[in-house]
Amino acid sequence: MNNITFVMIKPDAVEKNAVYAIMRYFYDNGISVCCFDVQQATSERVTLHYGEHFERLGQDFANRMLELFVGKTVIPIVLTGEEGIIAKVRGIVGVTEPVKAAKGTIRGDLGDGDSFERSERENRVLRNLIHASDTPEAVAREAHIWLPGYPIQ
Ligand code: ADP
Ligand code: MG
Repeated sequence: MNNITFVMIKPDAVEKNAVYAIMRYFYDNGISVCCFDVQQATSERVTLHYGEHFERLGQDFANRMLELFVGKTVIPIVLTGEEGIIAKVRGIVGVTEPVKAAKGTIRGDLGDGDSFERSERENRVLRNLIHASDTPEAVAREAHIWLPGYPIQ
């Protein structure tokens, strides 16, 4: 369990054709794919995934998140590598806001410098390309939502 993690390539990344570029960051770091799917996000799965954020950030945020996701293509992926992969992958992905993410990270290099401020002004959710789980519990919970057939204990 310490050598797997869960990520999900979000619709903004699929729409800008960045899937191959994103996957290179993982392969170049010795991380490989155990399981993935290409699917259209449903409001049920998005709400299960982001439920805590919806409660914290309110209905406008929930509506914008649903607008970004529902009916759009997402690619949930279970990744495997060395122990510590959860933190390693979060490092490769970069911090939440692309404008603050370091060069060399996925969000820093490919995120077009998006920010909370800009997304707020444009009445939309932040475009930061990819989600990465932050704890072993989140890996199990989130993989179960998006890849329900995949056995994670
Ligand atoms: P990360 O994706 O870096 O783990 P979080 O788990 O904190 O970030 O948030 C999940 C997603 O919710 C973010 O990727 C972003 O799209 C959105 N989000 C988080 N916090 C805020 C906020 N304060 N304002 C607007 N959107 C937010
Ligand atoms: Mg998170």
